[in-house]
Amino acid sequence: MKVEFRKVPNIAKEFKISLNSVNFLGTFSRISNKLVRIDAQIEGNYPVECCKCGKEFAVNIDEKHIFTVSDGIFSSHDERENEIIIEIDDHIINFEDILNSELESLNSEYHICNDCATSDNFVDIEI
Ligand SMILES: [Zn+2]
Repeated sequence: MKVEFRKVPNIAKEFKISLNSVNFLGTFSRISNKLVRIDAQIEGNYPVECCKCGKEFAVNIDEKHIFTVSDGIFSSHDERENEIIIEIDDHIINFEDILNSELESLNSEYHICNDCATSDNFVDIEI
């Protein structure tokens, strides 16, 4: 789902996309001529690799995020807490891209499958 930046309404509009078994849904609205806010929930099952045995297994995701999309370079004056800033340079908000980058950051975390989590020779993992 792609939305042209200048077409984002001032009143919160609902969106929902799905990628594999992950849903990305919520509302988006314009907060200024350069900024759009996305109140989003990410939910579903996402396959990750166990960092111990390499087995693929699904983790349950249920996260809420606030994204601020900046049309062009984001000025840090506008920064608020707990927001994820996304800068776009083509005036198009691509919801799949936003979801993908969130899932990628999930991928880069450590995950341990149930088998390894319950095994006796558990090794501490530095995070
Ligand atoms: Zn494992």
